[in-house]
Amino acid sequence: APERFTAAQSRGVRVCVRKRPIFSHELEQGEFDAVTCLEPGRIVVHDARMHPDMVKLFMNHHDFGFDEAFGEQMGNFEVYQGTARQIVQNALEGKSGTVMMYGQTGSGKTYTMRSIYEQAADEIFQSPRSVTVSFIELFGESCFDMLNQGVPCQLTTAQDGSVHPFPCVEVEVQTPSELLALIDLAGRLRATAATGVHDQSSRSHALCRVFVDSDGEEGSLTLVDLAGSEHRIDNAEHNAERRKEGAKINASLAALKECIRARASGAKFIAFRQNRLTQLLRGCFLPGGHHETVVVATVSPSSKDTEHSLNTLRHACIMD
Ligand code: ADP
Ligand code: MG
Repeated sequence: APERFTAAQSRGVRVCVRKRPIFSHELEQGEFDAVTCLEPGRIVVHDARMHPDMVKLFMNHHDFGFDEAFGEQMGNFEVYQGTARQIVQNALEGKSGTVMMYGQTGSGKTYTMRSIYEQAADEIFQSPRSVTVSFIELFGESCFDMLNQGVPCQLTTAQDGSVHPFPCVEVEVQTPSELLALIDLAGRLRATAATGVHDQSSRSHALCRVFVDSDGEEGSLTLVDLAGSEHRIDNAEHNAERRKEGAKINASLAALKECIRARASGAKFIAFRQNRLTQLLRGCFLPGGHHETVVVATVSPSSKDTEHSLNTLRHACIMD
C-alpha cells in the first residue's frame, strides 16, 4: 500500500519532486536506478536490502504522492512550467512567492534552480520593467551578502515584523543576461565564501530575491537553494565544528519543514521566529497571506542514495 498518496491542493504550498537521470559512472559502479516516477505525482523508491543470510535480496517499494513528480525524461522547460512559472507570473502581478529546492547534495538542486533563474529572467523581461536583485547566503547563523563580496550582514526586524538582512545590496538589472551574470557571480562566491574551503554550497542556504516593479506594485520572487538534506546529527563525526554545523543545518531544515507543514494545513499561528532561515522566509508563513510557495524536492535515482532519497521524500511529504 502507498505510504501516502494524495495530490490534494494544499493552502498556498505545492510540493513537487524531480528525479535526476542516473549517471553512467553510477551504472558502471554497479548501482541501479532505484526510483520510478509515475503519473500523476507519484514516485516509487525500490529499496533493495540483503537478507541476513546474504543470499536473498529483499525489495521494498515505497510509494509517495506529490502535486507533481518529474521523471528524468522531463526537461527543464516542463519542470519550470509545473513549478516556478505561476510564482513568476504572480510576481509580475505585484504578488510575492517562493520557490525552494530541497534534497540531498548531488540530487540536482542547483541544476534545477539555475534553469529556473534562466527561464524566470526571460519571462520577467518580456516587458521592460524595473527589476532589482539581492542574494544572500545563510551559513549556520551567519548571513553573508553575495552581491557585496560576501560581507556579513545582520538580520533586522522592520516595523511590520518582516525580517531583512542589513546591510544588503540590491542591484538593479535591465536584461536577463545581467540578472544571470549577477546570480552566477553570487553562486561562484557561494562555493567558497563562508570558510574559504571549496564547495561549501552543500552546507549553506542560498536565497536570491528578485523585486519586480509592475505599474507601481512591487512583486517579489524568492528563490532558495537549500543546504543538502543529508546532514544529520552525526555523533560519529569527530570534528566538533562539523558536528555543530550539521546540527544547525538539520535544525534549520526541520524548522522550515514544520513551518511549511503548518502553513499547508492552514494553521493560524506559525512559529517562524525560532530559526534564521524561517525568519528570512517569513512571507511564506503569514496566515491568510497571498504568498505562494513551491517546494521542489530533488532525488537521486542511484541505489547507493536510497536511504537519502527516502528521507527527502518522507520530509517533503510532510510539507504537502
Ligand atoms: P545539488 O545542487 O543538489 O548538490 P547539482 O545540481 O549540483 O546537485 O547536480 C549534481 C550533478 O547532477 C551536476 O553535475 C548536474 O549537472 C547533474 N544533474 C542534476 N540534475 C540533472 C538533470 N535533471 N539532468 C541532467 N543532469 C543533472
Ligand atoms: Mg548545489
